Amino acid sequence: MSSSSLEPARRGPGLLAKLPSVDRVLVQPALRALAAQYGHGQVTDALRDALDRLRAQAQSGALTAEQLDAQATTEALAGTVTQRLEAKFAPRLRAVFNLSGTVLHTNLGRALLPDEAVQAVVRALTTPANLEFDLATGGRGDRDDLVDELLRELTGAEAATVVNNNAAAVLLTLSALAAKKEVIVSRGELVEIGGAFRIPDIMKRAGATLVEVGTTNRTHAKDYAEAITPRTALLMKVHTSNYAVTGFTKSVPESEVAQIAHAASAAHPHGVPLVVDLGSGTLVDLSRWGLPHEPTVRETIAAGADLVTFSGDKLLGGPQAGLIVGRKDLIAKIKKNPLKRALRVGKLTLAALEPVLRLYLTPERLAERLTTLRLFTRPQAQMHAQAEALKPLLQGALGSAYTVETAPMFSQIGSGALPSDTLPSHGLRVRPVDAKRAGRAITRLETSLRQLPRPVIGRVADDSLWFDLRCLEAQDAADFVAQLALLQTALEA
Ligand SMILES: *Cc1c(COP(=O)(O)O)cnc(C)c1O
Repeated sequence: MSSSSLEPARRGPGLLAKLPSVDRVLVQPALRALAAQYGHGQVTDALRDALDRLRAQAQSGALTAEQLDAQATTEALAGTVTQRLEAKFAPRLRAVFNLSGTVLHTNLGRALLPDEAVQAVVRALTTPANLEFDLATGGRGDRDDLVDELLRELTGAEAATVVNNNAAAVLLTLSALAAKKEVIVSRGELVEIGGAFRIPDIMKRAGATLVEVGTTNRTHAKDYAEAITPRTALLMKVHTSNYAVTGFTKSVPESEVAQIAHAASAAHPHGVPLVVDLGSGTLVDLSRWGLPHEPTVRETIAAGADLVTFSGDKLLGGPQAGLIVGRKDLIAKIKKNPLKRALRVGKLTLAALEPVLRLYLTPERLAERLTTLRLFTRPQAQMHAQAEALKPLLQGALGSAYTVETAPMFSQIGSGALPSDTLPSHGLRVRPVDAKRAGRAITRLETSLRQLPRPVIGRVADDSLWFDLRCLEAQDAADFVAQLALLQTALEA
């Protein structure tokens, strides 16, 4: 007999005898109502758990007889069970306010989709659709065809295919074109993207041998040329999207690497392909809106890249996806690879991607219709005015332990796009009055903000909590204000 089963006898059976049986509680009206809502099994399990916990607490002496009495009433047990089931049935994926200043925040879901995309997803979720059904012939279709024409028009490429994300696009491309062969990459471009995407690791997984050329800061044209052997499958360039190498540096532009790749030799009479992992891969020149220039997919194709891979949910502003565009024969080879089937996208992704791509056909209206671009281009004066309006409301909620000021600040595009460029913004800076305990006061405030019905995510720097208002558009601002009263209650507690 284990020692724990001896406990009740020692601690006094009288105490435990006060606990009602599961069956006796379950027939009470309050519990029956819960069972009608959540199901009999859920209520029974939650109740059994609650009683087990009370029993354990009584045995360990953590509860007095009076406390046990109070917590073992039908009402108290119904309350405990309700709380547990409400928590269990509450969604885990929740809306938050992204006031972090990073627009494409990977941990907060990256791009927000425009309404056209949302409607298309809802339709795809609730009605059958021609995902792989050729409406012209009645035969089997190809899901890539839904976006192939758009991608060709927007990038100038001959063909396109779509997979789960850009990491998958790179893995699939290398796997299909370079397994058991060599891939030449500059040492300055062996990037690690957040979440364990490392070019050398992906290369290994794809079964390709990485041939590093040049040095961390400088790679020359001849470094590429001299590394080509009969075993070379392709040359690869990776957009160094989340860092910048500055100072005494040299990298070889795509057009020049393309020439080297395409040069005919005895081993490669037609040269080898150049693959460019563009990362963010925007479809339009962002300098049109006063944003920093980022190489576009079209420019990269025009420079001679045979394939370009890029993300759907970074600068493009669409759903999570990996896009591969380029030469028709290479895309055909990629589509035949069994990994393509494993990495393919579902209908929700394609439903969302298609309308987002279509918005790019009318660039004049893009800044108003594409959510991400609208956020990138919000004028600083708009955030400033918003900050002035919100300041007294936030100050009122926070009380006298914190001071709230409006402050200019810089937003980041995020997701590794344009790492050294920032966007002038405006927002609120919250500082604890007691400077000596600032760290603790900020942690407490951050915690309270995360516990709100719609958690608020800010950014901590210089003993302050900063709220960048760039991503708080008008329709959300009212929600933000509405829960300030709850914040006040939480802080006073
Ligand atoms: C972001 C990025 C990736 C990974 O793309 P995901 O869509 O997040 O899988 C790969 N390469 C580069 C250069 C990137 O910037």
